[in-house]
Amino acid sequence: MKKFLIAGNWKMNKTIAEAKEFAEAIKAKDLPNAKDVCILAPFTALSELGKALEGSGIGFGAQNVHFEQSGAFTGEVSVPMLKELGVGYCAVGHSERREYFAETDKTVNLKLKVLLEAGITPILCVGESLEVREQGSEQTFVAGQVVEDFEGIPAAEAAKVVIAYEPIWAIGTGKTATPEQAEDMCAFIRGVISGIYDNATGDSMLILYGGSMKASNAKELLEKPDINGGLIGGASLKVDDFASIATDAASL
Ligand code: PEP
Repeated sequence: MKKFLIAGNWKMNKTIAEAKEFAEAIKAKDLPNAKDVCILAPFTALSELGKALEGSGIGFGAQNVHFEQSGAFTGEVSVPMLKELGVGYCAVGHSERREYFAETDKTVNLKLKVLLEAGITPILCVGESLEVREQGSEQTFVAGQVVEDFEGIPAAEAAKVVIAYEPIWAIGTGKTATPEQAEDMCAFIRGVISGIYDNATGDSMLILYGGSMKASNAKELLEKPDINGGLIGGASLKVDDFASIATDAASL
């Protein structure tokens, strides 16, 4: 049976009160695959969201972290701080962080290492811009990101990373990659991982698709053999939509 992870990325949305309300509503859905579902929330909501989700099986995580353990990094949050909150996941290298906050493959690599060391599952985001896709260089570009991001990470640790393929042109734009485009790239990424490590590592890796996944298109994407789930932005803000996507994954 194919493994799935359905991860909601709330971005800079939801206050503590709204996060708690969402948690109660999603718990009421009694998802059959709650253990394969998680929510990446703003730092401010993590503590209360974690408490509200307790016992539901649904995981929760952060959207970013600093690679140093502590120090003079105003405005940043470290791995020990996340660990204390009990987060299970942390997004790394989301395209919005790469674009607006100068995230590079070097810092992504450092973040992956500290998260893995702490036993927090990184959700590593990779993906090309529209310009790169129009040049036909998307595979070269994404392979370059993957190789740099995994630099110096041994196979046993690498296998714990979840990769999210998120073409930038499909994020928040309403424009979804076709199931074939998404499948092709997820299969390609699996091949890159197998090439760096071995087939067992490539085969076992969870590779998600992200980019305007919603209730109406999730199933056709999730059905593809190399797509192990979704990283979902906009549609994860609405309980019914997010639950519908999770339920689709459970049915496959
Ligand atoms: C995302 O935030 O990673 C994302 C894929 O957003 P959206 O689903 O809104 O395109």
